[in-house]
Amino acid sequence: MPTKPLDRLMFAQGRLCFFCKQPLPKAEASVEHLLAGANGGSDRDENCVACCKSVNALLGSMSLKEKFQVVLNQKGQFKCPNGTGVAIPHKPAVKKEISGSELSATSKFDTIVANLKNRKNAKPRTLKALTSTIRSLFKPELADAEVATLVQQLQSSQTISLSGDKVSYTF
Ligand SMILES: [Zn+2]
Repeated sequence: MPTKPLDRLMFAQGRLCFFCKQPLPKAEASVEHLLAGANGGSDRDENCVACCKSVNALLGSMSLKEKFQVVLNQKGQFKCPNGTGVAIPHKPAVKKEISGSELSATSKFDTIVANLKNRKNAKPRTLKALTSTIRSLFKPELADAEVATLVQQLQSSQTISLSGDKVSYTF
């Protein structure tokens, strides 16, 4: 059975709106033709994105030039006009104690990278030291499996590279 364009696009975009990058419930999702059908745009995936219905309605059959203008006017802070893409208010980072269980995997990762960057030349140079550094950053301490996953993420994002037990950094 062929997949529906909306399902395919949602999957390819990780279920985030193409424009505002917010989680996109299927009920709120629609297919936007970048080059509108009225202007000769095709129905193929290369011309289509899944996005919030509200922004689709706004872009409507604007020319590509007008759409670029709308996107550029957001200055990199694109929020679809549906109220769900509200920016999270910036909170100052809490330094001394971070509750590990309250943080998502992404913010744990970010916390680790920020901490490592702050260490300048005092970064852990062995896998063992890195592991215990990561573990001591959070309270309650992270489980071994979670630390291992985070180390893998550091590797796959090329933040660090491992050679045997030696850790080197790309920053
Ligand atoms: Zn959106």
